[in-house]
Amino acid sequence: MADYDLIVIGGGIVGASAALAGVRKGARVALIDAGLAGRATDAGAGIVSPVALDRGEQRPEWTALITECVGYYESLLAELDAVDPAGAGSATYEQVGELVVADDDPREQAALDAVAERLSTPEGRRAHGITKPVELVEDVRTYWPELRGDLRGLFITEVGRVVGSRLHDRLLTAARRRAQIDAAAALDIIPGAGVLGPTGVRIGHRTLNSQAVLFATGAWAAADLAAYGVNVAVRPIRGQLVHLRLDGRQTGMRPVVNTPGAGYLLGFDDRIVAGATHEDVGFDARVTAGGQHAVLQAALDLAPGLSAATVLETRVGLRPATSDGLPLVGAVAPGVHVATGLGAWGLTLGPLLGELAAQHALGDQLPERLEFLNPGRPLPKES
Ligand SMILES: Cc1cc2nc3c(=O)[nH]c(=O)nc-3n(C[C@H](O)[C@H](O)[C@H](O)COP(=O)(O)OP(=O)(O)OC[C@H]3O[C@@H](n4cnc5c(N)ncnc54)[C@H](O)[C@@H]3O)c2cc1C
Repeated sequence: MADYDLIVIGGGIVGASAALAGVRKGARVALIDAGLAGRATDAGAGIVSPVALDRGEQRPEWTALITECVGYYESLLAELDAVDPAGAGSATYEQVGELVVADDDPREQAALDAVAERLSTPEGRRAHGITKPVELVEDVRTYWPELRGDLRGLFITEVGRVVGSRLHDRLLTAARRRAQIDAAAALDIIPGAGVLGPTGVRIGHRTLNSQAVLFATGAWAAADLAAYGVNVAVRPIRGQLVHLRLDGRQTGMRPVVNTPGAGYLLGFDDRIVAGATHEDVGFDARVTAGGQHAVLQAALDLAPGLSAATVLETRVGLRPATSDGLPLVGAVAPGVHVATGLGAWGLTLGPLLGELAAQHALGDQLPERLEFLNPGRPLPKES
């Protein structure tokens, strides 16, 4: 008998979601994580929005996926609160709304107009799961006093933000609790690098075997699977973001400020997060002078009133990116599955895609609507 029903390699948001889904199905799951520097889940800003600002015309199946994944948050959080009531007050996720702003740059103006147009009708909003009308904002400083006064704004109520590391921890807490309750299920969380070989997954000197292996190894998936002869086209895109503190001001329930160009701001109880760089520099998880400079320049250009804020820290993560901008979810070889390539959308998409990938690895059909994420699809060459 195999040691496990499912071995999940990689313990970011996707792997943690997959582990919970496996345990929920009564499976014996091992979750292996190497604790590599640059884990995207710990750095992610946390915007959970059904509206993409950077893609112009949407592919309908991509919009539908984002909308479904945003919608899934509600039932997931209800489950986490029920399984772990002590964590319920921990402000993991809040619906704070999103203030999309544009300056007088014609491209930003056009992008803002396109979003406003898209969301101007009930049908347009329904495609994004939005029920409430969006509002044009005359004075963006009523939401964020530190913003420039000349920005045009559009307010979308049904946008949330999440603390990725907190959600990750709560997913694992829920998975542990469920494994204790269900005699058939088990969860072993094993630190170390997992290497897939012909007889199972090697971690140091141990070899574990299972019915199925799911690679949720984020930006590292290509190298992990190449060793096994499977070609998965994913690469790291470094993101740096800066955490600031505004003493004496309430920032916890402020809306996300987002721009069609560069830069965004999120308010949390104890900090403001300003993001982010998109750097194609390989597996380099350093904080750099240029990265900090770029983020602070964009933040202060957007919100000059932040200039006296305290700099708390800079976080850096490696987004798992594909050349067509879409995730890779599905089987890559018999018994070998992958769920990666979530790029800048992983905190939004990770909970549901991790769950569906685990269910698939455990024998369920992958929903047909995810066919466009097939890891075997032809991908454009990197430019
Ligand atoms: C700066 C920044 C801002 C972002 N903002 C947002 C946002 O606002 N909204 C949003 O939705 N998304 C956002 N994202 C994207 C999101 O954070 C990522 O897409 C998501 O966290 C990816 O999750 P993952 O589980 O695939 O990978 P990761 O979180 O990177 O986890 C992969 C894990 O695999 C482990 N691993 C790798 N190889 C092995 C191995 N061989 N054996 C064992 N373990 C291994 C690593 O140690 C790591 O823990 C942002 C990302 C960044 C960097």
